[in-house]
Amino acid sequence: MNLISTYITDLKNVMFPDICPGCNENVLPRGRLFCTDCLLELPFTDHFDVKENRVIAHFYGRIPLRAAASLVYFSSHGNVQEVMHRFKYKGHKNVGITFGHIAGEKILLSPHFYDTNAIIPVPLHKDKEYIRGYNQSTVFANGISEISKIPVYHDVLVKTSKNESQTGKNRMERVKNVGSVYELRHPEKITGKNIVLVDDVITTGATLEACCDLLIQAKPAGISIITIACAI
Ligand SMILES: [Zn+2]
Repeated sequence: MNLISTYITDLKNVMFPDICPGCNENVLPRGRLFCTDCLLELPFTDHFDVKENRVIAHFYGRIPLRAAASLVYFSSHGNVQEVMHRFKYKGHKNVGITFGHIAGEKILLSPHFYDTNAIIPVPLHKDKEYIRGYNQSTVFANGISEISKIPVYHDVLVKTSKNESQTGKNRMERVKNVGSVYELRHPEKITGKNIVLVDDVITTGATLEACCDLLIQAKPAGISIITIACAI
C-alpha cells in the first residue's frame, strides 16, 4: 500500500472506524479481522495436529488424501459465518489473507504437511471472478504462500463453464456434475509433487472431490486439502 492510500485508510478509520464483527463493540485495528477478545474465541480446529480428522474422514474411500485440514468450524450463526460473508460478498480480502497467514504458519508446524511443493486454489469461473474482483480461494492460497513460501500454481486447474444446479442430485451425480466444469492443464507441473488443494469452505465436498479426481490424473506424489472453514 502506498503512503497516500495508507493516509486515506487511516482517515477513513478515524471517521468511520471498522467495528469488530464478532462483538459489534470494539474498534478494529487496521487490517485485523476481529478484536483480540473475539479472535481468541474463534472455533479453531485441531486438524493440523490430528491427521484422522473429520475432513480427511469425509473423503475416505473416495480420494486417497495425504492430509486434510480446516482452520475453523463453520456454524450458521456466529463470527465465522459473518467474516466469511464479508470475505465472499463484501470485498474483505483481508479475511482470506489473514486466514492464509495462519494456515501458512500451521503448515510449517504440522507433521502432516511437510515437503509440500505447490498450492492449487479451486478456480472460479472468470465471469464470476470479474464480478467479485477476486477468487477467494486464490486470496487464501496467496496468504498461505506468503508465510510458507510454497508457490501457488494458478494455471493447473481452470473452470471452463458454470455449475448447473446441484438440487436433487445425489453425491455421485453432484461430483460428476461439478467435475465437468473443471479442466486440468499443464499436468506435468505437478507430476511427482506433493500438492495442496485449497478452498474457502468445505460443505458437501463435491467440488474438492471433483478437483482431486482431475489432479490425480497428473500423478502427483500426494494430494492434501486445506480450507478456511469446515461445514461438514
Ligand atoms: Zn470483538
